[in-house]
Amino acid sequence: MIPFLDLKKINAQYQQELKDACSRVIDSGWYVLGNEVAEFENEFATYCETQHCLGVANGLDALVLILRAYIELGVMQKGDEVIVPSNTYIASILAISANGLTPVLVEPDIDTFNLDPKLIEQAITEKTAAILTVHLYGQVTAMDEINAIAKTHNLKVIEDCAQAHGALYKGTKVGGLGDAGGFSFYPGKNLGALGDGGAVTTNDSELAKTISALRNYGSHEKYKNLYKGMNSRLDEIQAAMLRVKLRFIDKEIFARQSVAKSYIQGIHNPLIELPKIRSEKSHVWHLFIIRTDHRERLVNYLNDNGIQSLIHYPIPPHKQSAYSEWESESLPITERMHKSVLSLPISSVMHPSDIIKVIKACNEFS
Ligand SMILES: *Cc1c(COP(=O)(O)O)cnc(C)c1O
Repeated sequence: MIPFLDLKKINAQYQQELKDACSRVIDSGWYVLGNEVAEFENEFATYCETQHCLGVANGLDALVLILRAYIELGVMQKGDEVIVPSNTYIASILAISANGLTPVLVEPDIDTFNLDPKLIEQAITEKTAAILTVHLYGQVTAMDEINAIAKTHNLKVIEDCAQAHGALYKGTKVGGLGDAGGFSFYPGKNLGALGDGGAVTTNDSELAKTISALRNYGSHEKYKNLYKGMNSRLDEIQAAMLRVKLRFIDKEIFARQSVAKSYIQGIHNPLIELPKIRSEKSHVWHLFIIRTDHRERLVNYLNDNGIQSLIHYPIPPHKQSAYSEWESESLPITERMHKSVLSLPISSVMHPSDIIKVIKACNEFS
């Protein structure tokens, strides 16, 4: 069976370095907010070409903390609206709700699966405070258009980079394309820890300073609490794991881009619609998404041919019980997407023969 993603095999590539890093932390005797987190923050900021990086507990918290900091700084207030793509993974939306802000769903461009700039303007009201854009599946959103709209209406631009570490837009990395970026290092992401982890990147020093307190009980100085903060810190152990894996992220991205290239060149089947890309470097292929009107049959066919596929995601956020207030909303593009998308295996540890097998099975499906 070709697994959808073989995490054990991915991490086995760096087994000795990971074990050494782990021992380094154990021997240090310092397990929370120590040298490993500080060094990882420096290294990840350098990688993203941003002035600041703050390690936090996970990707959801990264987004929660960005919005929370804007509230503490008086840039936003409870009840304000935040524009977010209606087809995102639900965490982007949960981060808005968690702050007492109102998520406003905007449909994606069906070809890129990312926010459609043409639809943003009509969703803006007096209460709109920010656009939270998601570089879904690893492809960068049309940032020039989004930043231009934000400038006109005086909105903050927050990037959900959980699926797009290292993706480039006109030469600039994600995380530095808006006012702040939220990253996840969940094990299955392109840069994955061996547990939960997340980070915020920004060039805004005031925002960075506020988040560094908010993640640590609202405290800059021990036992002095400026805000009603959270405990959301990146673990020393996970920071140490991430420092190892960050050295290989470009290799990981390159390998994924090569698999994607092979799929795009090799798969020719009128029943399967391939993903459309803006430019080669703008997509880091966290997921390789095809669309088909015959999804159930294709899943079974691939399975019968020893290929595991997954659906990202089967139920759109506005159809989730958690957001029953949106039950009657009609979002036709999002609904169509969720009925037709399918993810093929993609990773740095796929054997060339596996790639050929996937292409062959897709081409023989009828
Ligand atoms: C994974 C993910 C998150 C949440 O990250 P966690 O680390 O799992 O909390 C947020 N947004 C998107 C788009 C994601 O894919």
